[in-house]
Amino acid sequence: SYIDLRCIGCGAFLQTDHPKERGYTPNSAYQKGLETGDLYCQRCFKLRHYNTLDKVQMTAQEFLMSLNQLAEKDALIVNVVDVFDLAGSLLPGLQRFAGNNPIVLVANKVDLLPSSVKENKLIAWMKRYLKSQGIKVVGIFLTSAKKYRQMDELLDFINAHRKGRDVYVIGVTNVGKSTLINSLLKSRGLEGDVITTSYFPGTTLDVIEIPLDDHSKLLDTPGVIQEGQMTSLLEAKALAQVLPKKMAKPRTYQLNPGQTLFLGGLARFDFEGMKRSGVTVYLSNALDIHRRKTEGADAFYQKHLGSLLTPPMGRQADWPELRRHAFTLKEAQDLAIAGLGWIYCPAASRVAVYVPKGIDVILRQPLI
Ligand code: GDP
Repeated sequence: SYIDLRCIGCGAFLQTDHPKERGYTPNSAYQKGLETGDLYCQRCFKLRHYNTLDKVQMTAQEFLMSLNQLAEKDALIVNVVDVFDLAGSLLPGLQRFAGNNPIVLVANKVDLLPSSVKENKLIAWMKRYLKSQGIKVVGIFLTSAKKYRQMDELLDFINAHRKGRDVYVIGVTNVGKSTLINSLLKSRGLEGDVITTSYFPGTTLDVIEIPLDDHSKLLDTPGVIQEGQMTSLLEAKALAQVLPKKMAKPRTYQLNPGQTLFLGGLARFDFEGMKRSGVTVYLSNALDIHRRKTEGADAFYQKHLGSLLTPPMGRQADWPELRRHAFTLKEAQDLAIAGLGWIYCPAASRVAVYVPKGIDVILRQPLI
């Protein structure tokens, strides 16, 4: 139930039912707040008392509306993406929303990549990919907010490039934006009451403000759930299985033409030809891979989806059908599945990958 009172921190209407949404406060805290007059949503409460950030979810629509205002600002834009899922976590239309404002791309969670990934190759691919999407950036950073990698460098770069302007940090949910901001704060040794909230320009969405100097601030915008990302299909338990927690261990299979790999119930990979070759899968270690003959693979999937082949956990009535994407490869390529990981495929092979309808598959030069 929504209650007609606003949080005195961010101005959101208070509600006690949806912990992940704006204005949430546990009922007990709400009752107590009524007595003391100290009515904060849980997010602002944590912000005030522990200086930690919680995320608020919003619809893509709301988010895009709020982004529209960005082009009119004079600002430096920091777009945080998941290095494991560049295509799935890059904001569509980013360049349009940024207007003439410079963009810094922060590819976070590098600690999850196998150590064999060459950073220069990764950056080169990112540059090509950004170019293909019509996005111009002034810098690319490979960071780990969790392991404090590149935090000082990023902060120095931001300070050098913002030229007195405000800094907006944007990104879809789960890329590690809150963790990154907390780490940046720690790296500056900032503690206490430095964080306040305000509204995103022209909307009632709350943004987190962190002063950078007397005149400008860092603004953390709410995240957005991205469609076309594998993680948007999954529930919490399944999500935990898909999102890698530790560095992904490459798994290599010698495949004959006519063999199939199932990546849990999320995706299927058919090796169609030409000759027996090695294929390497990079994805969360917690996700099981099943090898089968391609013949009969359809029936196998139908029979075992949600039981042997997880996630999804159990039968989900709204689980999308798998769509087939076929490729003939002259050179060795990585076949990247948004939100999941990638499959290294050797030169001179014919392959097909099946992913839920709406999920993107892209080819790129191998990172390893
Ligand atoms: P937000 O939705 O973008 O604000 O993302 P969060 O900061 O809440 O992070 C989402 C998940 O990613 C959490 O489970 C974090 O612990 C995790 N995470 C954030 N940064 C990193 C990182 O650099 N490396 C790893 N391995 N995990 C991270």
